[in-house]
Amino acid sequence: MAQIAFIGLGNMGAPMASNLIKAGHRLKIFDLNPAALTALTAQGATSTQQASDAVQDAEFIISMLPSGLHVESLYLGKTALLKEINSNALIIDSSTIDAETARKVAAAATTQETAFIDAPVSGGTTGAEKGTLSFMVGGEKAHYERSLPILKNMGTHIFHAGDTGCGQVAKMCNNMLLAIQMTGTAEALSLAIRNGLSPETVSDIMLQSSGRNWSLEVYNPVPGVMDNAPASRNYQGGFMVNLMLKDLKLALDAAATSGASTPMGALARNLYSLHTDQADNNGQLDFSSIFQLYNRKHQ
Ligand code: NAD
Repeated sequence: MAQIAFIGLGNMGAPMASNLIKAGHRLKIFDLNPAALTALTAQGATSTQQASDAVQDAEFIISMLPSGLHVESLYLGKTALLKEINSNALIIDSSTIDAETARKVAAAATTQETAFIDAPVSGGTTGAEKGTLSFMVGGEKAHYERSLPILKNMGTHIFHAGDTGCGQVAKMCNNMLLAIQMTGTAEALSLAIRNGLSPETVSDIMLQSSGRNWSLEVYNPVPGVMDNAPASRNYQGGFMVNLMLKDLKLALDAAATSGASTPMGALARNLYSLHTDQADNNGQLDFSSIFQLYNRKHQ
């Protein structure tokens, strides 16, 4: 069993850390918000006062932070955590951030011979709780292989996407496609409803036809069509619009930097941005609530 430092115990980090404890690993945990540590300490983790205490003797350091700014500031900023980490440790950053920052932190780690991989996840808080996340890993193959026994405690699909930063690129591409697919699905369903079809019927038809996609299969955006989907509980829970907007911005920034054309991604971002302008709390709703943007007249 491994000695692990886990930094960032929010909505995702806390259940991921909990699964590592259940698997028998020894955890030292740190979060800027001390309240985030209480439940995990009760499960057997050792809470620490600062990140540098958590990483002492750690074989693996896992970070799960909001953005690239937080990740850069943790490892390279005032706290300069990188300097406190053993050179034989492996840093696993699972935050969703821009690939450039991932590469910057990885390069700094390499200069002191510490291994680093970017390993963002898909699957949301439910996947984090159930230990069924997908990990998209960027970094050296040997580092990826070393991370597998740890990541397997938190996820079921663990991919090596390529060199450093490629995990982040895979994640932003996936979420850009998801946003495009969800807005397209909401648009098609809305058109069908306005033209007299029931959402259940048209969903059944499209599921057996060439319009079939993940949003229709497991995440129908129309309230009442699927009992378990966020749409049927007032778009509460699930994956927040604000997080989708964050990921779309990462994708569009990467497109601008690389010269790639992403007109559909840009349109999806604008639709979600417009959606958040409609009501103050829309940013907190599940991303399938984009259906509301097409149905304002009927609400
Ligand atoms: P969150 O805001 O709930 O948690 C982030 C935690 O990091 C907070 O507890 C905060 O106090 C802590 N933190 C911030 N800076 C810190 C620092 N310097 N040192 C220690 N702790 C610090 O966010 P979340 O929903 O857990 O998301 C974490 C990451 O996972 C984000 O990058 C997000 O985009 C990504 N993600 C989230 C979801 C989701 O459904 N929530 C799904 C996939 C990926």
